[in-house]
Amino acid sequence: MKKKCSLCNEKLPAMESCTCRTLRYGSDYVPRIRFGDEEYNWGTRRCPDCGVLSGSYHHENCICEICPMCGELLNQCDCEGIYE
Ligand SMILES: [Zn+2]
Ligand SMILES: [Zn+2]
Ligand SMILES: [Zn+2]
Repeated sequence: MKKKCSLCNEKLPAMESCTCRTLRYGSDYVPRIRFGDEEYNWGTRRCPDCGVLSGSYHHENCICEICPMCGELLNQCDCEGIYE
């Protein structure tokens, strides 16, 4: 099944960094955590889900992205961050 990132229109998986760099939590804008910057080491130079290279921003709804507010996985936490 082919997925597409609606933030940057890349077909997924994609090596190119996503163009979205910020998450909004209520009125707070917080920089996103790039692949390779999380404490957990995925053991690979490309994101296992969205495919970006180390140092790049994940694509929409990537299951490997970390929430910068709580440090948990973004798609599992309750912070309700919104891509900006
Ligand atoms: Zn990713
Ligand atoms: Zn994207
Ligand atoms: Zn969170």
